[in-house]
Amino acid sequence: MKTTVLIVEDEREIRSFLEPELRHEGYGTATAVNGEQALERFRAGGIDLVLLDILLPGISGIEVLRRIRRQSDVPVIMLTARNATYDKVSALDQGADDYLVKPFEIEELLARMRAALRKRKQKLRPMTFEDIALDPDARSVKVSGEEVELSAKEFDLLRLLMENQGVVLSRDRIVDRIWGADYVGDQKVVDVYVRHLRTKLDDPFGRTYITTVRGVGYTMKRQSGYEDS
Ligand code: CA
Repeated sequence: MKTTVLIVEDEREIRSFLEPELRHEGYGTATAVNGEQALERFRAGGIDLVLLDILLPGISGIEVLRRIRRQSDVPVIMLTARNATYDKVSALDQGADDYLVKPFEIEELLARMRAALRKRKQKLRPMTFEDIALDPDARSVKVSGEEVELSAKEFDLLRLLMENQGVVLSRDRIVDRIWGADYVGDQKVVDVYVRHLRTKLDDPFGRTYITTVRGVGYTMKRQSGYEDS
């Protein structure tokens, strides 16, 4: 299946330069000329990568990125004419994968796109922790081969912990990653969700997968007796 790129750019000149170049490289393309249109097209599905201009009429590229990130970790490469540090920092803070200043060489853009897509593919590789198998692509979790139903947030939390095996994650960092940097609620939400996971994973299987590190946060650390596979 073709990798489809959504080009979000209000300047016709740049759109009409990018579209044929990307098609020539074998990508499928979709275009949007403003933020609202971009979100609408993105929500319709089938987008594998977003090229997102920062300076757009109406809602800004940064705001479009924030809204995309609420529902998806699709690779996003920001484009801007201004080499403003502020834009770059806020784009990366909001979860952009990369950033390119216009004008740019098409070869450089293509290389960054390949890198972002590779990174994404790696993130979608199935992972295991002891007898838990998590498939990020199918969003499925199995314990000893038995399917376990998780809510979206429970799944994201388990995935974050499994991606960081052996690392203690603070509540702060977990909230940041799962609920977003602008989450204003209580950090206790993390404890609540860890409890949900324990009810679904530990209790039925008589195990302790998630370890509480008092005063710090949580970790998934292999117990002795389990070898890395
Ligand atoms: Ca623009």
